Amino acid sequence: MRTPYIAGNWKMHMVKSEAVSLASELKSALAGVEHRVMIAPAFTLIESVAATLAGSNILVGAQNMAPAVSGAHTGEVSPGMLKDVGATVVILGHSERRNSYGESDQLINEKVSLALSEGLEVILCVGETLEEREAGAVDAVVRTQLAGGLNAIPESALSSITIAYEPVWAIGTGRTATPEDADAVHASVRTVLGDLYNDGAAQKMVIQYGGSVKPDNVDGLMGMKNIDGALVGGASLKADSFIPIVRFQR
Ligand code: PEP
Repeated sequence: MRTPYIAGNWKMHMVKSEAVSLASELKSALAGVEHRVMIAPAFTLIESVAATLAGSNILVGAQNMAPAVSGAHTGEVSPGMLKDVGATVVILGHSERRNSYGESDQLINEKVSLALSEGLEVILCVGETLEEREAGAVDAVVRTQLAGGLNAIPESALSSITIAYEPVWAIGTGRTATPEDADAVHASVRTVLGDLYNDGAAQKMVIQYGGSVKPDNVDGLMGMKNIDGALVGGASLKADSFIPIVRFQR
């Protein structure tokens, strides 16, 4: 059985007082929830959010990471620095990193490999743009991103990797893939994982859906066979919307 996993990507929102206040509200409201929960604040907020969530069941992650352990990399943050302030997870390959900052599958793969070797869990994001969807290229895009991002990653490391399928046209737009559409892509993600590794390994992997997940659509999405969790942007910024998402009903 795959444990449901709900993650919140706070993106470039909030200052410390707001982040600590939301984290402490989540800590008390989500005590005892059996689903895995993670929140990824901006780098500058990780330490105070992790301190606030200490002793809770909520994991803290980062939204990006340098592909290097140290050195002359102006503006970058290393895996060791993330661990030092309390992060245990890192989101890699988010479409905003791919599309606004030109991150390639090769660069993302270097980051995935380094994060794993440094002991961080990874959420690896994949997903097609609207143009790619309209061109009928969804499966091909997702296959390329998975094969690239997971290049040379051994099967033994897969237990530390979650895949997030996030159709770019659904992120922050209010447009969500229907549960059936999303499930069909999740099924093909699992097929690709089976081809890259084997069916047993693919069946164990948690695949999150991301793209305008809200309290009123999460149950339908989470009711699908291949949808194991959600990566949530906008709706993770408020307790009123994130708590019911984490507490979805199947
Ligand atoms: C995201 O950024 O990963 C995301 C899914 O955002 P939103 O939920 O706002 O669409």
